[in-house]
Amino acid sequence: MNKKKIGIISLCIVLLLAIYCVTTYKLMNSRTYQVFGELVPRVETTKKVVALTFDDGPNPEHTGEILKELDAKGVKATFFLIGQEIEKHPGEAKQIIQAGHEVGNHSYSHNRMIFKSPSYLSSEVEKTDALLRDAGYQGDILFRPPNGKKLLYLPYYLKQHDRTTIMWDLEPDSYEDIASSADKIVDYTVQHVRPGSIILLHAMYDSRGESMKAIPGIISKLQAEGYECKTVSELLKAADRP
Ligand SMILES: [Zn+2]
Repeated sequence: MNKKKIGIISLCIVLLLAIYCVTTYKLMNSRTYQVFGELVPRVETTKKVVALTFDDGPNPEHTGEILKELDAKGVKATFFLIGQEIEKHPGEAKQIIQAGHEVGNHSYSHNRMIFKSPSYLSSEVEKTDALLRDAGYQGDILFRPPNGKKLLYLPYYLKQHDRTTIMWDLEPDSYEDIASSADKIVDYTVQHVRPGSIILLHAMYDSRGESMKAIPGIISKLQAEGYECKTVSELLKAADRP
């Protein structure tokens, strides 16, 4: 083979690899699309309803405070819990469930669920389901992948098991500048909210004191704008019928 041919073939391989990498990256991070099954970043509705969701935990440091803030406003939220944290703190998981909130599955170990074996991925989901049941949860268990990442097998598995993947359309405390101030978190949320929005907050961490402080403000301002905060399952039921 002459040098020119080798050059062209090498270029094609590099190009194909680049396309593969870009496609894989986009697919694993997409909030609105996956190859199999349903992925919900927001519910299509004209009603002024939204869902507040909290990721990670539970833990003894912050669970009680979040529950107190929600209770003071009479709001039920959805908590996507990590299996190994439920194992460490079953009392806090029970507390969330007994307070009438929805709990969802956020994997067992919170490792990214990409480039892993099928058996690893299914055990991450199933172990956490079992822990949520042990903690007394009886409703359908929604799923949210850690860091929102998924590729092929995870969506396939979830579809086979008739599970809905819940993403989000608003994550105010994921932007460094906004996360640094409770007021900014509240303002960002109120400015960007739409009917059917799924709002993600990370108030379960010591480093997220501003997110915790923002909870009452978010709820009050949303309510003042006529919004009702519901669990994700309730929000799904509020979808407009086509
Ligand atoms: Zn998480």
